[in-house]
Amino acid sequence: MARCVVTGGAGFIGSHLVERLLADEHEVTVLDDFSTGQRGNLDAVLGHPGLKIVSGSITDQLVLANALQGTEFVYHLAAAVGVKLVADDPVRTIETNIYPTDWLLKLALQGGQRVFLASTSEVYGKNSKEVWNEDDDLHFGPTSRPRWAYGCSKAIDEFLALAYHRKSQLPVVIGRFFNVVGPRQVGNYGMVIPRFVDQALAGGPVVVYDDGSQVRCYAHVQEVVDCVVSLMKTDAAVGRIFNIGSDQPASVIELARAVIDRVDPEVRIEHIPYSQAYGEDFEDIQRRVPDVRRLGATIGRTPSMPLGEILEDIVAWKRSGKA
Ligand code: NAD
Repeated sequence: MARCVVTGGAGFIGSHLVERLLADEHEVTVLDDFSTGQRGNLDAVLGHPGLKIVSGSITDQLVLANALQGTEFVYHLAAAVGVKLVADDPVRTIETNIYPTDWLLKLALQGGQRVFLASTSEVYGKNSKEVWNEDDDLHFGPTSRPRWAYGCSKAIDEFLALAYHRKSQLPVVIGRFFNVVGPRQVGNYGMVIPRFVDQALAGGPVVVYDDGSQVRCYAHVQEVVDCVVSLMKTDAAVGRIFNIGSDQPASVIELARAVIDRVDPEVRIEHIPYSQAYGEDFEDIQRRVPDVRRLGATIGRTPSMPLGEILEDIVAWKRSGKA
């Protein structure tokens, strides 16, 4: 049994991680401000004797320090998340994603916690390589485009974490998530699968930005949580960065068709330009495929659930009325 903190524990990935840690008989403190997360995400474990929920912001240094007090493992997932939210409010992105991470890492240095830092495939920016390796260059667009603030803020978190590791041996593991999907993910912030499923269930159209040729890889949240937990148990993972995701590519138009096939084949697809969805200064990334060999070599597995199976699970959850 260990004492853990999960920042952002009421969020999509965080709530699955909390369930998993409790199932493994750990004590878990959730610190969340419920901005994009929801208390209902923790319904299955509410009342569990090992769970404590703190409603507060990581931007409050005292709240953060209290939450970490007496713990051994910190999973730092709280962040301003989602392409749309980030494009709409770049100041909040920077304030939420940078300063609190620095405080948290300093607190962990004093408290001796092992830290998991949730980063993102967005740090690769516009890198044009077919497959992205952890040591590849980061290719951000101009600072005049708010879209890049998210990836850039997470890259600074990574620099901070690695600097504390090198300078003071802070035990930190960095995971770059690639399109994590599954039950409890919401579509309001630009997440593609819940949006497509909701649109198809409502009778359509399913709205695809541009021509839909953008390529992504989708990993089921349960498999991603398994990887995070395994990495935190593995000494060889400390001080390193890991891509965490599936490496099976699918275009957005293929995804739209796969959703429609499962929900209602009568639903039609409509294309709109990015500028209509996100404003004139939006830029997207054409292809995003991770190299997961480092992850596989370190923990012995990588997310592998086929897209069809993932979609079945999400559609069943939406139809269950729990969404
Ligand atoms: P989410 O929005 O469901 O989770 C984020 C959680 O953080 C929410 O519960 C939110 O309420 C909380 N939060 C936000 N600001 C906070 C603050 N100031 N104080 C306390 N809590 C705060 O999103 P998610 O998809 O579960 O993302 C979790 C983490 O994984 C994030 O760090 C995100 O950047 C990273 N990530 C996710 C994906 C993905 O595909 N879902 C991809 C790359 C990276």
